[in-house]
Amino acid sequence: MSFTYASPQSRVGHWIDNEFRPGEGGETAVYDPALGKVSRQVALATRAEVDAAVASAAAAQPEWGALAVQRRARVLFRMKELVERHTGDLARLVTREHGKTFPDARGEVQRGLEIIEFACGIPQLLKGQYSDNVGGGIANWNQRMPLGVTAGITPFNFPVMVPMWMAPVSIACGNAFVLKPSERDPSPSLLLGELFREAGLPAGVFNVVQGDKTAVDALLNHPDVQAVSFVGSTPIAKYIYETAARNGKRAQALGGAKNHMVVMPDADLDQAADALIGAAYGSAGERCMAISVAVAVGSIADELIAKVKSRAEKLKVDDGEASGADMGPVVTQEAKARIEDYIASGVEQGASLVLDGRGLVVPGREDGYFLGATLFDHVKPGMKIYDEEIFGPVLCVVRVDTFAEAVAMINAHAFGNGVACYTRDGRTAQEFAQKIQVGMVGINVPLPVPMAWHSFGGWKQSLFGDHHGYGEEGVRFYTRYKSIMQRWPDSGSKGPEFVMPVN
Ligand code: NAD
Repeated sequence: MSFTYASPQSRVGHWIDNEFRPGEGGETAVYDPALGKVSRQVALATRAEVDAAVASAAAAQPEWGALAVQRRARVLFRMKELVERHTGDLARLVTREHGKTFPDARGEVQRGLEIIEFACGIPQLLKGQYSDNVGGGIANWNQRMPLGVTAGITPFNFPVMVPMWMAPVSIACGNAFVLKPSERDPSPSLLLGELFREAGLPAGVFNVVQGDKTAVDALLNHPDVQAVSFVGSTPIAKYIYETAARNGKRAQALGGAKNHMVVMPDADLDQAADALIGAAYGSAGERCMAISVAVAVGSIADELIAKVKSRAEKLKVDDGEASGADMGPVVTQEAKARIEDYIASGVEQGASLVLDGRGLVVPGREDGYFLGATLFDHVKPGMKIYDEEIFGPVLCVVRVDTFAEAVAMINAHAFGNGVACYTRDGRTAQEFAQKIQVGMVGINVPLPVPMAWHSFGGWKQSLFGDHHGYGEEGVRFYTRYKSIMQRWPDSGSKGPEFVMPVN
């Protein structure tokens, strides 16, 4: 079966009521970052278009939320099959608009698919708890109820996976969902809409509005939106959380990151270097779980850096669809310029530039937004390249003398998304996992992205809100708790009771 939106459209519009809407507002350019050219336009939703999407969601939700839970699950089972079948189509759209390599884009779709698989188990997750005969023939049970209309605002770096962190869980819980994808790579959202329709999802339960701040603000201020999930940079995450909370909405806002990998003197340095290469430069470093700082403990730094450098020099940077490409371009010309500025600031502030990725030209793709792998040594807290998120293929090495120094430095950092420790010592690993103030920890695992049923979220400036994303935390976020006490008394009144009921 072929789908219209498996192929890129010249103008990416909205998805409302299970139909494509071209959009009546303005538009902005979408680029192919490997070619460095405008490939299409994306509509920017007006407030009225956001209102139409929310109205469609609000109209559809009561019936959807009242549907037997196993019937909702069956729609997700069909969606799982459709996404499996169209993984290549989704991944190709991602590669052309984001730039990441095609195998990496397939991996992204697979991780999104795993959340759909999790959401297929929603009958078990919503089954509640029951206490019989808590006194006087009374039963007490609790159940999780849908919220109504929920919204998701997502970043450019995972245009399939991050929407799938949210929508399947929200929808399975009986909500309707309005997605506002990143305007940099909007096309996959339309194919997701088409696949949901094919899976049997009723019109209005999954809507997409394309756009920028205008669309986001319209969602944040809409009285019928009950909850907002956000993933993106920290300043916007904070703004979303504060605005949504001020408007009485439930909010979870996942922000930026600066993820460290501690390499202990006893680690297998080849293994650690391999891990650093994939985690720092995969997807051109545009992952919120990318490792951007290697912390070399003790006297291993020279050897570790030599191993990383020799591997990084061999990376093939190319169009994401070119065979054998390890790394594609970064997403936009502005992103490239921003990363180059960070590299310049690292040099100015006294770090040693071991490998400089600036000035890389890919033959046949001369206008693409390419950067080579970049490696800094002698980086210190206080330098911009250490303190701030670069979000590009730049790895900083910090040298410390002791494990305690490494832990204290990481704990003092503003971000707390992911972290890893490479060691062969169980005691060190255990101490690291307990003492480190970061939400997601890897022991000899460079990118510890939790499985679909373990929930995703950082600490400190990497997450604003109470609940992590997807998994059981996602189910809690997208439902509200109700407790019911019930009794079927014998006939005849015993008269009013004025004391607090006790047994
Ligand atoms: P971004 O914050 O620029 O944009 C995210 C979303 O917010 C987009 O949909 C965008 O249209 C919207 N937006 C942008 N500016 C806005 C404004 N002023 N008001 C309202 N909405 C606005 O992020 P990005 O550049 O798309 O993504 C990269 C960032 O996302 C990085 O910081 C990365 O670490 C972070 N990220 C975090 C996680 C996580 O799980 N913590 C996961 C992926 C990405």
